[in-house]
Amino acid sequence: MGFGAIKGQQQAIMRLQGYLNQDKLEGGFLFSGPEGVGKFLTAKTFARAINCDAAATAGDCCDVCSACVRMEKNCYPDLHCIDCGEEEIRIEAIRQLQEQICLRPYEARKKVFIVNNAHNLNPVSANAFLKTLEEPPRDSVLILVTDKPSMLLKTILSRCRVVKFTALQRQALARILERDYGVEGQQVHFLSYFSEGRLGNALRLKDTDIIGCKNRVIDACTSPGAYLFDTLATKDRQEMRVYLNIIAGWMRDAYFAKAGIPAAELIHSDRSDAVDAYARAHTARELEEGIRTVSEFLLYLDQNVNVKLLLSNLKLYFQSTR
Ligand SMILES: [Zn+2]
Repeated sequence: MGFGAIKGQQQAIMRLQGYLNQDKLEGGFLFSGPEGVGKFLTAKTFARAINCDAAATAGDCCDVCSACVRMEKNCYPDLHCIDCGEEEIRIEAIRQLQEQICLRPYEARKKVFIVNNAHNLNPVSANAFLKTLEEPPRDSVLILVTDKPSMLLKTILSRCRVVKFTALQRQALARILERDYGVEGQQVHFLSYFSEGRLGNALRLKDTDIIGCKNRVIDACTSPGAYLFDTLATKDRQEMRVYLNIIAGWMRDAYFAKAGIPAAELIHSDRSDAVDAYARAHTARELEEGIRTVSEFLLYLDQNVNVKLLLSNLKLYFQSTR
């Protein structure tokens, strides 16, 4: 419960509990670290810990008092979340925040404002937000959450207490998946490699047919025809990212297999024969080129580059290395 539900972020949590215990809360925090490691979950838990009604939970929250329950359900009048997903955060959202931050709390000790994916503040909204951050009311806590801190204004960064979140070690992630979430066998192996230490990503995939999906993608890579590209073309960006990461992992496996890495350390250890065959059929340079092509695809996908163009580059790569 409370902070105990957040796995592998003890350092960040200890720092936050230090602020809670010393009552040094007003102003801005920046929760920074890779996607899928629990930043947003921690921000919401921090908000509950600040305003939990149970006196016995100093430095944490009880999750059962009226305040905690309503904060969890997003119907607590002093907790405000701006979460626009991957869309830009427009000025209207910041203007609304500025109106709310001037009001007295309805019932909370501190009003809490969480801005998720804060790197999506557009220039106008970032400058407006900076004004608020320069003179934050003493009864308010602002939490910015981002996996791309370099996209934020330096002046915003410098006015926040930066709390860093990190990816888990692979083995630690595997243990958590087995012990706390009952994931077993090949799925543990694959998810702990594939998620790169990001528990949130592993949990998002654990109840899907990810093993079947990744094997279909690999079959398509080994005989790349229309299927692979037609399938990719129908996916939204999030799904496309999963598919591309599967392909990248496949090529990485083949590259390392060429260098003699043991089968147990392959991402696709259940397909080690196919990995070996693919490695034999391609030169190291071809595999490097493949990894680079897919990595660029992933990078440009984040920058909203035309997907058709990216797909045709990938197609060209597969045609030229068949
Ligand atoms: Zn509570």
